[in-house]
Amino acid sequence: MRPTKVARAAGTGSSVPVECCQICGHAPLDRALSLGYMPPVNQMVPIGQVARQQPWFPTELLHCRNCDLVQLGLAVDPVIIFPPEYPYTSGTTRLLRDNFAELQRESAAMLGLGKDDLVVDIGSNDGTLLSNFQKAGSRVLGIEPTDVGDIANDRGIPTIKRYFGPEVAREVKTEHGPASVVTAANCFAHIEDVHAIVDGIVELLKDGGTFISESHYLIGLLDTLQYDTVYHEHLRYYSVTSLKHLLEMHGLEIFHARPIPSHGGSIRVYAAKRGTHAVQDSVRRMLSAEPRGEAMAKRLAAFRRDVTLSKLRLLSMLRELKEKGRRIAGISAPSRASTLVNYVGLDQDVIDYVCEIAGSLKIGKFMPGTQIPVVDEARLFDDQPEAAVIFSWHIADELAPKLKAKGFRGTLITPLPVPRAL
Ligand SMILES: [Zn+2]
Repeated sequence: MRPTKVARAAGTGSSVPVECCQICGHAPLDRALSLGYMPPVNQMVPIGQVARQQPWFPTELLHCRNCDLVQLGLAVDPVIIFPPEYPYTSGTTRLLRDNFAELQRESAAMLGLGKDDLVVDIGSNDGTLLSNFQKAGSRVLGIEPTDVGDIANDRGIPTIKRYFGPEVAREVKTEHGPASVVTAANCFAHIEDVHAIVDGIVELLKDGGTFISESHYLIGLLDTLQYDTVYHEHLRYYSVTSLKHLLEMHGLEIFHARPIPSHGGSIRVYAAKRGTHAVQDSVRRMLSAEPRGEAMAKRLAAFRRDVTLSKLRLLSMLRELKEKGRRIAGISAPSRASTLVNYVGLDQDVIDYVCEIAGSLKIGKFMPGTQIPVVDEARLFDDQPEAAVIFSWHIADELAPKLKAKGFRGTLITPLPVPRAL
């Protein structure tokens, strides 16, 4: 059953509570975790501006015992969480670039894509994913509502600046023909009415076409304690179980699923109209490893306890450094850093500043909800603080050697899954 009440915050200028499961409509939902109140991660106040009133929203995870979707308890108006100057671009992380190149190779080999095939990417960002399909000779089209779409158009990847839905799907189909492949990488968790998106995808796909989605993976999130990826942009936290439930409601069948490294642990899922492809063993393997119902409720209770402990451990580690008079900086200010800093309660007297690479739009602003300034990374190498917390700890393996090579001599700390010095 489709949800009778979609939590639609768009146009309200504020927020709307999620009262029934966004996939299956089940109610009531169980409370799994509360991180308290959080500021929007992309609203950063410029340094020097007089402090003004800022919105804070309750941040709670709910579990549906029927389809096992874990979802945020509140939908916030996209105007608040996706300001037009939205600073995120997918082309800036090597891991993501590599992943998208690999997605193209895997799908082209599995589906036998040729020159006439149209590949449409929903939430196409700066066109990084599509550039791989374009290089391989396929026709490509991006759909991206934010200004980041201009970057894609400038680099020659045709991009429509609209919100995707059944209407846009019909227009695209009329103008460009049906799509052989529709991709959605990490926007599937962001959009309020997920059923309208899947309706649009089904509309746009040709007979025998494939939908490929990449989503942050709930099970990996629980295993590696990534509560810091919980913020208001992410309305839903998928497992193969819950994705299967959603796609089956639209006549789509998952025929391949596998874990990928993006964003600290994601899943890539291939789906097509039921019966188009033989279902690969990967699907059964992933499904059977996922807890369901009561087992998932228990898993979530353990997660909740571990999240609390990790906060106390990190505070205790930072307290020891402060008692010795050490200076502590932060490394990088991704969205997830906002959740961590605010949940743990770090402020400008614990973390002197957070460094971003030169050119980042976040430099010159305060970390959301705090007065911790974001500064050019160069300051880290001049100052040489005794310790630095890597807030993008999920790519610490990529960052730590770079920081050392550039001359940082202090101790690097990863805050999660267990706070430790590298
Ligand atoms: Zn449900």
